[in-house]
Amino acid sequence: MLVSKPIRFTVAIDGPAAAGKGTVAKGLADHFGFAYLDTGLLYRAVAAKALLGENVITAANKLVPTDMASQTLRSSEVAQMASKVAVIPQVRAALLAFQKSFACQDGGAVLDGRDIGTMVCPEAKIKIFITASAEIRAKRRYDELQSKGLETSYEVVLCDVKERDERDMTRKDAPLKRAQDAYLLDTSDLSIVTSLQRAINITSAAFVKVI
Ligand code: C5P
Repeated sequence: MLVSKPIRFTVAIDGPAAAGKGTVAKGLADHFGFAYLDTGLLYRAVAAKALLGENVITAANKLVPTDMASQTLRSSEVAQMASKVAVIPQVRAALLAFQKSFACQDGGAVLDGRDIGTMVCPEAKIKIFITASAEIRAKRRYDELQSKGLETSYEVVLCDVKERDERDMTRKDAPLKRAQDAYLLDTSDLSIVTSLQRAINITSAAFVKVI
């Protein structure tokens, strides 16, 4: 009798804020029927607790899935705080085991973040580093905030994006950087549909070899 083995296939998506990682990662997961984890939400959930005065390391160690469900996690204030708590090695260590086991689950997984291809899952079958110019990323984030009725200006959003990039790229522990074996996908001049199609093409080529 032919027994097919469960598929283990991890796609690691990394890149700076508002480059389109989330949309591409979610689209890839839907396309291939893989599980999806937005790892930024873990850091945002810890940040939200820090803003309420909780100890960040305790909060990171006690995180539960419902902590990731709050709509308030998408605010700029939480995003900035997330990149501050993400500098703390004990916070990163507390969140690592969950991300690693998510990445290795049967049936395939897509994770997006800053250190997926370098730290969380260096053995991922496919790694894609998604980027775009700071100005374009700020414009996308500004439009998104506007559509949600949140008052801000393009200049403030651009400043936030650059500040977060700088902190994420220069921290000592697991900084944002392209893994050596990651495909580079610059979405500055690409639509969401085209960006996703490129990511699907890249992933399909490796996926057919394991099924
Ligand atoms: O992806 P998102 O913008 O939601 O991430 C919020 C912050 O969480 C990032 O700016 C980064 O500092 C941190 N983060 C991280 N490592 C990840 C995912 C997010 O350091 N894998």
